[in-house]
Amino acid sequence: MGRGAVTDVGTSDIHLMKVDLGEIKQKLDSLVNVTEALWELLQEKGGYSEDELKEIVAEITDKKTEMRKSKNECPSCGMKNNPKITKCMYCGAELTVNEEFKGVFSFNI
Ligand SMILES: [Zn+2]
Repeated sequence: MGRGAVTDVGTSDIHLMKVDLGEIKQKLDSLVNVTEALWELLQEKGGYSEDELKEIVAEITDKKTEMRKSKNECPSCGMKNNPKITKCMYCGAELTVNEEFKGVFSFNI
């Protein structure tokens, strides 16, 4: 049960692009394999259901959307900044950068 739901990432469309995306596709495939393995472990050893997985995926998606909306907005002057910088380019205040997921996928896949 359930394998397709986790792996349907739409890799079939990649070959339609004219640029060479071979390396990215390879990394995506590896990432999908890791995700799939983790999901199998969670089902087998953790007894999680697909509904629970979907719920958590939805939570993460919401959280990331929220992070994108808020992280580059200066808490001091309210101006929007480039998401890559840590200090406001208008007033110099420290920007709140959510580093919770920094390096999550830093392992070699
Ligand atoms: Zn500012």
